[in-house]
Amino acid sequence: MTQLSSSNKLSLIIPVHNERDNLKELLVEVENALNNISNDFEIIFVDDGSTDGSFQLLIDLCKDKSSFKLISFRRNFGQTAAMSAGITYSTGDIIVFMDADLQNDPADIPALISKLNEGYDVVSGWRKNRKDKLLFKKIPSAIANFIIRKISKVNIHDLGCSLKAYRREILNEIYIYGEMHRFLPVIAARVGAKITEIPVNHKPRKYGKSHYGLNRTFKVLLDLITVQFMRSFSTKPIYLYGGFALISLLLGFISGLSVILMKIFWGTDMTGNPMLLLTVLFILITVILALMGIQSEVLIRIYHQQGRTKQYYIKEVYNVEIEDIKD
Ligand code: UDP
Ligand code: MG
Repeated sequence: MTQLSSSNKLSLIIPVHNERDNLKELLVEVENALNNISNDFEIIFVDDGSTDGSFQLLIDLCKDKSSFKLISFRRNFGQTAAMSAGITYSTGDIIVFMDADLQNDPADIPALISKLNEGYDVVSGWRKNRKDKLLFKKIPSAIANFIIRKISKVNIHDLGCSLKAYRREILNEIYIYGEMHRFLPVIAARVGAKITEIPVNHKPRKYGKSHYGLNRTFKVLLDLITVQFMRSFSTKPIYLYGGFALISLLLGFISGLSVILMKIFWGTDMTGNPMLLLTVLFILITVILALMGIQSEVLIRIYHQQGRTKQYYIKEVYNVEIEDIKD
């Protein structure tokens, strides 16, 4: 039996979107797993605007269970928002996330906690034997994970696996929005977290269907640019801006020079040389788009951090004090 130290309360956070057929089995599984670890735990289901009656079923199933907390959103705000609400309303010192679709195995939680107790701040689950579609999930995800590993230098293999354990103090330092939950370990590393991973079980989805397809991989790679920019350049954007400026200057110089050389050696008409126009056009477009993209990411971040936007709206809660509502 894995012991939590006496001061350590565990919060298990589970985002739920249209998972009705999975919930009954899930509740039994998580309760069994957590009862083996500690008696100081809470399980928070965040219903992310389900339309299949998941929340109603959760209320029925969790009646009279004081360690279960339920939050329901007014509409579907996304998995990141659901995880974020879970963090806000949880009270544990250790936070574990898990999917509601029975693909993760809560029996892995003790091992995650033991590893955390070895002195880590984040322990990431690694679905070594992943039970998803090879072509549409496993291969694109392996490629994305490889690229992210190389670029972020955070050496874990399975960012997409929800089953991960975090120390609360690390999550308190982090603000996630958009679809950034997959980058939590990368962002945690930036905060200074000590991170490791352990293999975890994975089961095929029996009921309901996956919310994410192949296009997710491309979005993840786009998010990587933002995350990486924030990591490397947020305090020194001039390195990046200056880098682009130098490259464009160099390209402009080379193209300009070649137009002149073509004129001298071959007598090519300078203004009539399409290379002149093309080079100027491409350089302008690249530089402007890249810089605008980055600037808007910076602006979005400031916007979010000032707390002007709500990521989600809560409709109903169960076992969460209403005056606690901090959305
Ligand atoms: N989920 C959510 N809101 C969404 C999409 C997904 O709360 O908008 C939940 C979903 O119910 C599940 C978890 O996030 O518990 C992961 O989703 P899914 O299993 O579909 O992702 P996959 O495992 O296929 O990547
Ligand atoms: Mg799943």
